[in-house]
Amino acid sequence: MALIVQKYGGTSVGTVEKIENVAERLIAAKKEGHDVVVAVSAMSGETNRLVEMAHQISDKPDPREYDVLVSTGEQVTIALLAMALKQRGYDARSYTGSQVHILTDSAHTKARILDIDEANIRADLDKGRVVIVAGFQGKDEHGNITTLGRGGSDTTAVALAAALKADECQIYTDVDGVYTTDPRVVPDARRLEKITFEEMLEMASLGSKVLQIRSVEFAGKYNVKLRVLSSFVDGPGTLITFEEDNMEQAAISGIAFNRDEAKLTILGVPDQPGVAYNILGSIGEANIEVDMIIQNVGDDGTTDFTFTVHRNDYQHALDILNNTAKELNAREVVGDNAIVKISLVGVGMRSHAGIASQMFKALADEGINIRMISTSEIKISVVIDEKYLELGVRALHSAFGLDEPKD
Ligand code: ASP
Ligand code: MG
Repeated sequence: MALIVQKYGGTSVGTVEKIENVAERLIAAKKEGHDVVVAVSAMSGETNRLVEMAHQISDKPDPREYDVLVSTGEQVTIALLAMALKQRGYDARSYTGSQVHILTDSAHTKARILDIDEANIRADLDKGRVVIVAGFQGKDEHGNITTLGRGGSDTTAVALAAALKADECQIYTDVDGVYTTDPRVVPDARRLEKITFEEMLEMASLGSKVLQIRSVEFAGKYNVKLRVLSSFVDGPGTLITFEEDNMEQAAISGIAFNRDEAKLTILGVPDQPGVAYNILGSIGEANIEVDMIIQNVGDDGTTDFTFTVHRNDYQHALDILNNTAKELNAREVVGDNAIVKISLVGVGMRSHAGIASQMFKALADEGINIRMISTSEIKISVVIDEKYLELGVRALHSAFGLDEPKD
């Protein structure tokens, strides 16, 4: 017998009928003798609907009230799921985040979980109940309702699993696991049996939206065994592991990409101390996050400086940079918001010096120009023109042998 925490996302509970299917899955787990705690999302589309209503009233809705509003979607799902279980003769209890004391900080709309009091949950489990917890929400020390950021139900599930020392945390979603890349771009993408936490963090942060990144960080920190599975088709899903399987480790585990990129270059700035600080300082003050940064080797006393930002911040960053350019007496500012980033991710990369050149060759063979390059321990990223995204990802996917074997 094991203690399992399961999480069902919006599409898995999108209709009453689907909620009833989830009830059947929970019953199956009970019949296998497991104790089950389940975290659920709002029915699909519901959180968006609530957010839109708030924005009809204000561009910047009051954060406290925003959380009161958007946390309601999950409360509908927990109640319906508990009813469905009871209707089938199984004992269940639904709880909001605050009822099971999911204590968070007070950062409304993006709160972090600080503590969970698992006593109530354990007492229910001892009575044989299925415990159903609303995802995405908690309360702060003053009792205000908080929410954990979009996709936050994943983090609720992982935090419950950590607090209860569950044997496994199973994230049920509409895909049957983590793939080598987005199957909508590469039809030959393969489901991974396993992926390491480090790799999953990179994949998640680079735009593979299977799991909320915070949930992966949380699982890594508290050693939670995490599995991603489909609620529509049976299968083993993908296990997110701590071990690196050195024997079988391919150099590359997956390819992530991000369309939300833009780059800005300031040309002909004086090559002297403080310039990088001047350029990025004002960008940082405007709360714009910078990703890649490149400074060219100085020539004739001047240099060029390029960095990337989220595409939504492009215009704002461009305005700031134009001001900086005047102050620094720089020659020109140029920008491009039709770029994308593609990254190869793999823990096996540490011992594979040739991967970068193999990557660049695969792109060159397709006539794709690389605009920027950056590397870290387990990833290599390139920035290319947006129009080559699909071509580039497909070329790399087959160059690194990630395609589904053809039989
Ligand atoms: N319902 C919330 C959202 O749509 C939280 C979640 O589903 O994880 O972002
Ligand atoms: Mg989700």
